[in-house]
Amino acid sequence: MRLVFIGAPGAGKGTQAKRLAAEKGYPIVATGDLLRAAIAEQTPLGQQAHAYIQRGELVPDPLVNQLVAERIATLESFILDGYPRNLTQAQMLETILPQPLSAVVYFEISEDALIARLGGRRICPQCGAVFHITANPSTAGDRCDQCGATLITREDDQPDTIRKRFSVYREQTAPLVDYYRQRGLLRTVNADAPPDAVYQQLLSVLCEST
Ligand code: AMP
Repeated sequence: MRLVFIGAPGAGKGTQAKRLAAEKGYPIVATGDLLRAAIAEQTPLGQQAHAYIQRGELVPDPLVNQLVAERIATLESFILDGYPRNLTQAQMLETILPQPLSAVVYFEISEDALIARLGGRRICPQCGAVFHITANPSTAGDRCDQCGATLITREDDQPDTIRKRFSVYREQTAPLVDYYRQRGLLRTVNADAPPDAVYQQLLSVLCEST
């Protein structure tokens, strides 16, 4: 399966991608995670990308396109989480895909629900586990219950940056919903629902795509 997950920041794409990957074995290519790793390792890519991420803006297309092209070149199955984020990237993806996409899953959710979610999100800087202070707290308090590291708020989950990321999403990424609908690839799930219910919807829309 070659899947793209699209949806606003905080819609649950990453959580659902991890669960699907664990069950089906599809590798995840999450551009946000790859960029954060590059920043932590202070690679040339990370140094170029850091300021854009801090401002809640998109990292320039050539940098991200190259990152994705390298990752998916040899993959038969994958879940792309966070890419493409605009029409230029969607067109680029068509040229680098070894085989056509199987489906594009759209995580549909209201902005009010998202603001509540993102403000309470905490991540583990060591193993990448994601928590929420009320909806999915770590059993170890402010530490990761998987590896013990102290949990942090993502630097781009601050209120001003969240607002910026939403406006970038509305202007640049939301048009992809129609783009993929017109191509017959779009499958929509209601991402306002609890995680288990979203996962069941995901499995059922993917059944229709095989
Ligand atoms: P995410 O973890 O997907 O929310 O991404 C965090 C940040 O990484 C975004 O706000 C962007 O600054 C950057 N980013 C992730 N994916 C892309 C992409 N496909 N194109 C440009 N920038 C991206």
